[in-house]
Amino acid sequence: MSWKDTTLYSILNTKCPRCHTGDMFPKGTLYNFRKFAAMHEKCSCCGQAFEPEPGYYYGAMFVSYAFSTAIFIAVWIGLSFFVEEVTLTMMIIALIISVVALLPINFRLSRSIWINIFIRYKGPCQHQEV
Ligand SMILES: [Zn+2]
Repeated sequence: MSWKDTTLYSILNTKCPRCHTGDMFPKGTLYNFRKFAAMHEKCSCCGQAFEPEPGYYYGAMFVSYAFSTAIFIAVWIGLSFFVEEVTLTMMIIALIISVVALLPINFRLSRSIWINIFIRYKGPCQHQEV
């Protein structure tokens, strides 16, 4: 089993959960403010739908909450490392900057994790549309 066969590979690279080949999101749009949420309809390789049903990613919100909590903790620890006394204003400003800066990553990783929970890897793509 190689790194490409792991679920983590699919999640971190936002690859199709079924074949780990097709991209879930168009390339080069991560930090394009208008396009970061744009998603391919289906896998270009195996044809797996990336939004199998309307509202499919509702639950990805919970994954996103977990990320936001992690960001919160990281910012808090980071600030108290560099600043002697962390004020509420400082904390809020640092949080807003981090959350906004990481929003596209948070959004995509949440969706990637979510779809990987439900769709299992079926091996490398054989270029068969299903
Ligand atoms: Zn695929």
